[in-house]
Amino acid sequence: MSTCTSCEAELRPEWKFCIMCGTPVIPAAVRPERAETAVGQKIATYAPLVFAIACFSLAAIVIAWFAINVWF
Ligand SMILES: [Zn+2]
Repeated sequence: MSTCTSCEAELRPEWKFCIMCGTPVIPAAVRPERAETAVGQKIATYAPLVFAIACFSLAAIVIAWFAINVWF
């Protein structure tokens, strides 16, 4: 819950102005949280992909090792 910078009244996220004093609600304080959330979502999106690529790479190395040392 954010508060008004002028009168410190509690502000709801959907409010564009403070209902107590009319001060415009500045979303700057919210932006860093959104940026962190965006980064977190990117990590959450790409982490399984990176994990899958790492698994395939490891599998390829193991198969190559078997091909060189066992089959030949
Ligand atoms: Zn206010």
